[in-house]
Amino acid sequence: MLYYSTNGISPLATLREAVVKGLATDRGLYMPEEIKQLPKEFFDNIERLSFQEIAFEVAKAFFGEDIENDDLKKIVYDTLSFDCPVVKVCDNIWSLELFHGPTLAFKDVGARFMARMLGHFNRKEGKELVHVLVATSGDTGSAVANGFLGVEGIHVYVLYPKGKVSKIQESQFTTLGQNITAIEVDGVFDDCQALVKSAFMDKELNEHIRLTSANSINVARFLPQAFYYFNAYARMKEQGLADNLVVCVPSGNFGNITAGLFGHRMGLPIKRFIAANNANNIFYNFLKTGVYESKPSIQTIANAMDVGDPSNFARVYDLYKGDHNTITSIISGATYSDEQIRETMKTCFTDNGYILDPHGACGYRALKEQLLPDETGVFLETAHPAKFKNTVESAINHTVTIPARLAEFMKGTKQSIPMSKDFADFKAFLLNE
Ligand SMILES: *Cc1c(COP(=O)(O)O)cnc(C)c1O
Repeated sequence: MLYYSTNGISPLATLREAVVKGLATDRGLYMPEEIKQLPKEFFDNIERLSFQEIAFEVAKAFFGEDIENDDLKKIVYDTLSFDCPVVKVCDNIWSLELFHGPTLAFKDVGARFMARMLGHFNRKEGKELVHVLVATSGDTGSAVANGFLGVEGIHVYVLYPKGKVSKIQESQFTTLGQNITAIEVDGVFDDCQALVKSAFMDKELNEHIRLTSANSINVARFLPQAFYYFNAYARMKEQGLADNLVVCVPSGNFGNITAGLFGHRMGLPIKRFIAANNANNIFYNFLKTGVYESKPSIQTIANAMDVGDPSNFARVYDLYKGDHNTITSIISGATYSDEQIRETMKTCFTDNGYILDPHGACGYRALKEQLLPDETGVFLETAHPAKFKNTVESAINHTVTIPARLAEFMKGTKQSIPMSKDFADFKAFLLNE
């Protein structure tokens, strides 16, 4: 399968090229040339299949032409070493819990898949060591570092701003060792990002070592997110609750919901989607007005959704050929202030005993407000509430237990390399690696 750029200027890329490049040279996002429909029989019997079996069928539709079945199956099964269950919250609302992976957020799925796919290509082509550079303000670094941990042929460098990430977050990428190096930059997140960008643009550096990014817009991170939408449908169908299913996605950069929309295009019988925003309401405004207007991002308590110019909007637009009517017939929007998010965490806990994280709270609330009487709603619970312990505890007035695997990270020894924000220092460091 070939991949085209949403900007239409860059030449078509193979899967491998699209994965290694991440972003097309014309700065567009890669899209598969074809989105295959899955056969009716697949959906008729889907409730009899396990999560891994379902995911393998979906993966074959995307990657089956480029990766042999045995290898692809191994990548899928290794990626999904944890479950993504649906859990009942109240009458007609269910939570698709995506936080049972190593770093307790949905980004584990994409990061683990991408790592295994890159590892696969490296083994096939016997190329030299690949260096993955990732700048993080917290969560991306931990998902990528843990996803790539121990994957042969790849070394990951996580650049993070000194003193600007929480202890829990820091422990998730500084205590791993092996093929993961944490770099503590004396600066802010933008300095980390600038170092990574300069490295990709530096000719001399790229002649000496092979660099790639693990950005969330990468097709190998983004497409596998479709897996759990199919699984959610199967698990709801098992209980006779799959008619008129509405799926609500707390959205920031819109990669997660776009993967769901791809599933829908493949024939997954979801009635409609809701994109729930925090105060960063760019998509919400687009739905209302038909005009896309990016804005500087606003800091909120659902900080993984603080995005003022969502990259994957380009994919949504491309998928529906820019037709505003079609887009609004499939997706509706919602936007919530921090105050509303806090209030939602509190009422959901009081009414149902279910603890939401600030992102999932946007999803739950949008379903509460918008679900019709004959519909069943599933929202994506994108992170474990313990990742936002203080915020959640003060909202619900109750303690949030830290799961064992999160506590485990905090016992490890921090190993990181101090770095100035001067590119010359970073370049010299990489050349000496
Ligand atoms: C990244 C993230 C989101 C936003 O997902 P997008 O794919 O960028 O829309 C939502 N919640 C959590 C917890 C995240 O880490």
